[in-house]
Amino acid sequence: MTQSLQGRSVVVTGGSKGIGKGIARVFAQAGAKVAIVARHGEQAEAAAREIGHGAFGLAGDVTSLQSMEAVMKEAAARSGGIDVLCANAGIFPPAKLEDMSSEEWDLVVDTNLKGTFHSVKAAVPYLKTSDQGRIVLTSSITGPVTGYPGWTHYGATKAGQLGFMRTACIELAKYGITVNAVMPGNIITEGLAGMGEEYQRSMAASIPLKKLGTVEDIGHAALYFASKEAGYVTGQTIIVDGGQILPESLEALASA
Ligand code: NAP
Repeated sequence: MTQSLQGRSVVVTGGSKGIGKGIARVFAQAGAKVAIVARHGEQAEAAAREIGHGAFGLAGDVTSLQSMEAVMKEAAARSGGIDVLCANAGIFPPAKLEDMSSEEWDLVVDTNLKGTFHSVKAAVPYLKTSDQGRIVLTSSITGPVTGYPGWTHYGATKAGQLGFMRTACIELAKYGITVNAVMPGNIITEGLAGMGEEYQRSMAASIPLKKLGTVEDIGHAALYFASKEAGYVTGQTIIVDGGQILPESLEALASA
């Protein structure tokens, strides 16, 4: 694939596990210097050690602008700047609308949506000085395209990230910074793997490609947006879901 991430400085929020760790691994294997950010700094460091290629972990909380400013300063100091921000950190604690408290709503919005704003705002001063400034958001199909009971707050944040992106990309274009988003479908993460093979099998049955996605599938899509070759692509989304959103009905899937 692209050679253009070689030696580039990349920050991945929520990179200690799941999709973020997959993104971090794909970028590290492409030759990038990757900073992995998570609230649990020791888990970020453990993921960095596992990934190798000079990756390093940093403790940071996306719900705090001050914390993100400290993280970006440290990442830039250690890697000689920041070229790419993968704003990936997100949570999805389920709660049905009728039972959801205002605090539960706020936690998801503060992490997923306000956390995206904090990460981007803190990274922009460094991205501005790069000749390959890139921001890649991890959104979801849930919210922008589909719905799932228990995730009104989550879906609102994932759709909100795309609204944020469409203005941010215009504002940041003058610095040559692009802003794009990956929209994953059902991806096998540590959490999902723990739910057992039968659960995974039933989920895979509703997907045209008949399998769940891997964290590296998302990493490769993020790598494209971050590449030199994608320099004229901004404000765009890519759905990586094995065709999950396409069948109009169960019959459409069964009769293929
Ligand atoms: P995950 O396995 O639970 O990992 C979440 C990561 O985010 C961890 O590294 C976690 O580390 C970090 N994190 C959580 N809150 C944070 C905070 N306040 N500040 C900094 N880091 C924080 O999650 P995932 O399934 O990979 O999901 C990652 C992203 O992909 C999310 O944005 C999610 O919406 C999106 N997504 C996932 C799927 C899927 O199938 N898994 C599908 C569509 C979209 P700490 O706990 O140490 O902070």
